[in-house]
Amino acid sequence: MENCRSLLATILGDARDAGLVDANAASRRGNRRGKVITRRLERTTAPKEWLTPLEILLLAERAAALTGRDDDFVMWTVCGWCGLRWGELMGLQRSAFLGDRLRIDVQLSPPNGGPFVLRHPKNGSLRNDQPQFFCAVDLPPFLSALLTRHISTRPPADCGCGCGGRKFLFLNKEGGHHFHGTYEQFPWSQAAHGVVSGRPPRPGRSADAPARPVLVDCSAGFPGRPLSPAWPKADGPVWTPPLIRGVPRYDQPVIDVVAVDCPSCPAREGQPCRSAYGAVLSNRPHRPRVRAAAEQGHRRVLALAFRLPIKAGLTPHGLRHSHRVLLDEIGTPDVLAHDRLGHSKPGIGRVTASPAPAPVRMRR
Ligand SMILES: [Zn+2]
Ligand SMILES: [Zn+2]
Repeated sequence: MENCRSLLATILGDARDAGLVDANAASRRGNRRGKVITRRLERTTAPKEWLTPLEILLLAERAAALTGRDDDFVMWTVCGWCGLRWGELMGLQRSAFLGDRLRIDVQLSPPNGGPFVLRHPKNGSLRNDQPQFFCAVDLPPFLSALLTRHISTRPPADCGCGCGGRKFLFLNKEGGHHFHGTYEQFPWSQAAHGVVSGRPPRPGRSADAPARPVLVDCSAGFPGRPLSPAWPKADGPVWTPPLIRGVPRYDQPVIDVVAVDCPSCPAREGQPCRSAYGAVLSNRPHRPRVRAAAEQGHRRVLALAFRLPIKAGLTPHGLRHSHRVLLDEIGTPDVLAHDRLGHSKPGIGRVTASPAPAPVRMRR
């Protein structure tokens, strides 16, 4: 409705300027004058959440521990240290990695009922070293090395979805693109908010599962292996293990399945099962392996821990804000910070604004 009105106002404004009508009936400039303070006071947007570099590291680590894929670690580290938007991160292809810089000239747009498409980044914020646009994003040496290793261990692959992109750096485990909504449900909310989402009520179901904190087994060290299904929260000062049907007794010794090689998949001793079934996620190793470990007497006591939230309410876009905060923190000139994020500074063109005397760039 708001858009329709603005459009009509623009059309009538043009018509008035051309002398076709006497007045712009849809204009409401007069009405809005003097109301800036009111509008600001009424603004209801929540403060933007952001992470410190340590929190970015923890987030990336947890996401990878939850999915069992190093890709997630690399993906969120890149996002946090380059201040990318979700679509720009998902649209990263092999050709964007220039060794010491990242060229951002596309973003992968979500399928709004249709297929994924590659477009220019929002507001024309291409970062590709071309004079009309912004500088390619310099990578700190550790990130260059991390990406180089990522590309050699997980060669960039085609998605096969027809979006027109080739050799993507970050695809999901089926080889397709990540969906924002699906990723936020898992693993994002568990990694960032420390919460296993509850089950929404549905007709015909006995009860709704409430949201639970993320439960991990730290017996093999940090950051711990996520346990699923997680235990519910304590509902009183004295906590007792839940005795509910279908909820495992993690307080009792478990069969240490990874103590033996798996007869059903290539997983060796010490490694989780690697079946396409997703044994890591569902926490269900192959039955023959469980039997073999039980027969050989491999039992283990779990070291249980709940994960505290890194930041409640954080969205993937929060990493872009985090990057801005970090740039401010280390005293990056405003012009340079805007350039890195692909923001045009209001009133200042890229050509006229250049940090004097010579452009200071992030250390390579
Ligand atoms: Zn695609
Ligand atoms: Zn297996």
